[in-house]
Amino acid sequence: MSTVLRSYLAGEWRVGSGKETELVNPSTEEVLARTSTGGLDLGGAVKLARERGGQSLRAMTIGQRAELLKKLAKTLADAREELITLGLINAGNTRSDAKFDIDGASATLMFYAELGSKMGDARVIADGEGIPIGRSARLYGQHLLVPRQGVAVQINAFNFPAWGMAEKLAAALLAGMPVITKPATSTSMMAHRIAQLWIESGALPEGAFSFLCGGIGDLLSFLGPQDVVAFTGSGATAAQIRRQENLARHNVHLNIEADSLNSFVLGPDLSLGTEAMNLFFSDAVKEITQKAGQKCTAVRRIFVPADRLDEVREELVQRLSEVRVGNPADERAQMGPLATAQQLHDVRAGMAQLTRSSKLAAGGPKPIEAIGVPSGKGFFVSPTLLIQPNPSVADSANEVEVFGPVATLMAFRENAALIDLVAAGGGGLVSSIYSDDRPFIEQVVTGIAPYHGRVTIAGEKLAGQSIPPGTVLPQLLHGGPGRAGGGEELGGMRGLSLYLQRVALQGHRPIVEQLSGTRRESGV
Ligand code: NAP
Repeated sequence: MSTVLRSYLAGEWRVGSGKETELVNPSTEEVLARTSTGGLDLGGAVKLARERGGQSLRAMTIGQRAELLKKLAKTLADAREELITLGLINAGNTRSDAKFDIDGASATLMFYAELGSKMGDARVIADGEGIPIGRSARLYGQHLLVPRQGVAVQINAFNFPAWGMAEKLAAALLAGMPVITKPATSTSMMAHRIAQLWIESGALPEGAFSFLCGGIGDLLSFLGPQDVVAFTGSGATAAQIRRQENLARHNVHLNIEADSLNSFVLGPDLSLGTEAMNLFFSDAVKEITQKAGQKCTAVRRIFVPADRLDEVREELVQRLSEVRVGNPADERAQMGPLATAQQLHDVRAGMAQLTRSSKLAAGGPKPIEAIGVPSGKGFFVSPTLLIQPNPSVADSANEVEVFGPVATLMAFRENAALIDLVAAGGGGLVSSIYSDDRPFIEQVVTGIAPYHGRVTIAGEKLAGQSIPPGTVLPQLLHGGPGRAGGGEELGGMRGLSLYLQRVALQGHRPIVEQLSGTRRESGV
């Protein structure tokens, strides 16, 4: 008998009616839970969140909101083992994958709690310095950030049920906006449990947090000019949301985090056996296999100097062939299955598209014998590497995102062509350069920076302490232009901007300073 998951709306747990979606264990295909959002009063949930949740949060100081985030982080940390188990059974996470998700969630909540604590009693945020704008110092301007008076609808992808939800929620609550969060249905057991724990903790004021477990229904049709939609998922779903009539009519603030063809670039200076080269290989294998490649920041394209192609291919093929694929419930498994049957179908179809312009070097779409799995069950694929010695910007590797453990190794012969190839991804979340050659780094970073939200540079000096590029840090921007959605999340206080209205105050300096909380004795 599978569990029925519920939604928490307008201060109550509710069960939807009508057609249910089944949630399965992607290793065994056993049905674990069911959910539906049919018949739920989403307009009522929006109204309560806006009116009660918004009011209570705006009445709190930023320091008090920060205390709230601390409690939510602690709740997650206390339930870590239980949540890891849900990641294993419902998302196909290995223990290490699930910890990455849950610890990333707690750490991001704590990061924003600490930022907020520093702001103490403030309720609004001064944006930059005040500016004298007249002939005398009396006439003064100051930009100010104030919470929007609507609700933040936060829609997440299936791959990070904890981290994805927590990172968006932290920024909105700290800014003073109530949240309606919607996890992807297929892997929502972990998010559902977190929602239960947060509500039971009593930390959240009424209406500050709502949880929609299942399809989006007509939720977006209730949104207006003070509301926000923060979306993470595929470019195709993002395009549907952008076309939603009332979102366009009311200019609802929309942040999109979508696909990305992230890349690694190996500089011509690194040679086999060096620490930096080992870092390149271990990061590449991690970014291909962690969460079975189902990370928005996973590496999809690896560019290396043409005369190094064979040695890099040999080493990567060797390392990928050693990765044990299986049911995460079996301790021998190092990489789990894809999250759903649809994912398996899409990844195999994507591999077929890639083989139109590249050759398979390892793995591929064929069914595999996974460890600890009933015969023929589970959504498993092998870590897969393709190779293209003479890439062009039109190759499918530069156009198709295969959201699984799949990367294409490509050769480059000159820096200008390399920059064109990296940029051909159409806008990405992260590109990583492994080199200590300063002129090379400068030329490549200058060329590719406009196409990315983040560029990481790793070399010999950082080999012992570098953070794998797929790890999203709350201090630094997450997002990217073009196909990556054009959105921005995190990046410290920048992450709050979506939930805040910037207003320029212009007037007599003491009044402007008083309203913006920047008043010092100025004598004017
Ligand atoms: P998806 O199919 O686009 O779904 C994302 C979310 O949108 C889910 O919660 C889904 O709900 C919801 N949704 C579906 N149709 C909707 C609609 N018409 N209106 C509003 N919401 C709707 O993506 P996914 O398969 O979960 O995630 C994989 C994709 O996400 C990949 O392309 C990956 O690159 C991208 N991603 C990007 C980032 C980033 O930060 N840039 C991070 C993670 C993943 P249901 O599950 O109920 O259908």
